[in-house]
Amino acid sequence: NAVVHWFKMDLRTVDNRALFCASQKAREAGVPLITMYLVSPQDFEAHLVAPIRVDFTLRTLRILREDLAKLNIPLYVETVEERKHIPVRIAELMETWGASHLYTNMEYEVDELRREAKVVRMLAEKDICVEVMHDACVVPPGRLCSGSDPEVLELCAQPLRNAELARRVFGQLFNSEIPMTVRNKNLADEEAGRLRALWPAGEHEAKKRLDAFCEHRIGHYDRKRNLPAEAGTSSLSIHLASGTLSARTAVRAAKDRNRSKDPNARSEGIQVWISEVAWRDFYKHVLVNWPYICMNKPFKPEYSNISWSYDKAHFVAWCEGRTGFPMVDAAMRQLREMGWMHNRCRMVVASFLSKDLMIDWRMGERFFMEHLIDGDFASNNGGWGFSASVGVDPQPYFRIFNPTLQSERFDKAGDYIRKWVPELCGIKGSAVHEPYARGAGALAKKNGYPEPIVNHRVARERALAAYKKGIERG
Ligand code: FAD
Repeated sequence: NAVVHWFKMDLRTVDNRALFCASQKAREAGVPLITMYLVSPQDFEAHLVAPIRVDFTLRTLRILREDLAKLNIPLYVETVEERKHIPVRIAELMETWGASHLYTNMEYEVDELRREAKVVRMLAEKDICVEVMHDACVVPPGRLCSGSDPEVLELCAQPLRNAELARRVFGQLFNSEIPMTVRNKNLADEEAGRLRALWPAGEHEAKKRLDAFCEHRIGHYDRKRNLPAEAGTSSLSIHLASGTLSARTAVRAAKDRNRSKDPNARSEGIQVWISEVAWRDFYKHVLVNWPYICMNKPFKPEYSNISWSYDKAHFVAWCEGRTGFPMVDAAMRQLREMGWMHNRCRMVVASFLSKDLMIDWRMGERFFMEHLIDGDFASNNGGWGFSASVGVDPQPYFRIFNPTLQSERFDKAGDYIRKWVPELCGIKGSAVHEPYARGAGALAKKNGYPEPIVNHRVARERALAAYKKGIERG
């Protein structure tokens, strides 16, 4: 007999609701707790998970396995080639282990909900109880409340009473193989070295980053969060996305910091940071309430008939950071180099693709998922919806970012541009924001930097007309 926890996007031991409940159940019943993670190459492909994200997950699993083994809890890992076989395989494993209960945290995307429903049905037929719990958000979808601090759940650190039993009966599960890579998702050696150094995996790293951010930077977040040249944000998105950090723990840490007397812990910064973390919850709530956004549909149905461009040369220029708009190009190169992009720049490049180039925002959404380490369906879709004006944001489509003004406002000295676009490194002063129009064209050209692929003023008018026509048609 055993109780099982199924890990998905909750790769941590601390403050993990389903894992916590599973451990309590096992303790009460006096049976071992087994944990499992099923690697699904087909799921990674279907959901466009970036290779850097897959690599992060596999590295995290190794750390998680060591941590759990210290508590005498095995983490069993198995690759299930076809996603449709996952429920069947879970049922088989549960039977093999003689397990009576399965615990797991809920994922809100449509495919995942369907999979979970199948698991529940299949296991019910075998009299196995399944508990699917809300864990990913600070405030679970459907329940809005304010004021109280989120409760943080510690997995009991003492070894389970029946630890010896777990070792004896399920000893072989401690040694299941965690793959080094997954089909079509492997990183080249150079990339792997660079990206692993940038993004150490696991929940200890998440905690370290959270503590350092709360100690030194959170108090100034409101002033610095929009400046891409500065390390003004937390860089915790991959940890929140893969569940190596719980959103409750993050908010709790910020609130604790808010109570400190340290003048560095400015409340203005802390409050703004908490409100940004709330956007993550918000977009998940949107997904739960309007699941059709998972099916390539805009949130606003009246925006379904816009005539998008599918100009390949323009799209490639955007992907490669060769549009001739320095801020856009710096941002796209940051994404390719780091697997991450600053939030301000995500808005700028998304607006540029969908409005200046009139390219179907879904192509950008897809490209982001394929390259971001923190790619998360709800937040990414929400961000693209906001930028392309097809999402929940009540602002109409007239908001069109001017990429040059954005650059002058948020990267005044041009440090971010010079860092990511070496062709513009030697350009002094404000010419870096618009080299061809400000007398630095010869140097830019010599260094191989392209001229702007569109005229922003003309592109803006074109976008306004196309949106208007699309809505009238819609
Ligand atoms: P911080 O500024 O330190 O914020 C803390 C946390 O709050 C973030 O880690 C994130 O979990 C959450 N958060 C902050 N801003 C937002 C936001 N606008 N929407 C949702 N959550 C937010 N975020 C993702 O996690 N995954 C994505 O795939 C993603 N795609 C995006 C696409 C576009 C077009 C846009 C405009 C935004 C996208 N975001 C996405 C939101 C945001 O850009 C990132 O969460 C943020 O840049 C991550 O950096 P950070 O951890 O330093 O953030």
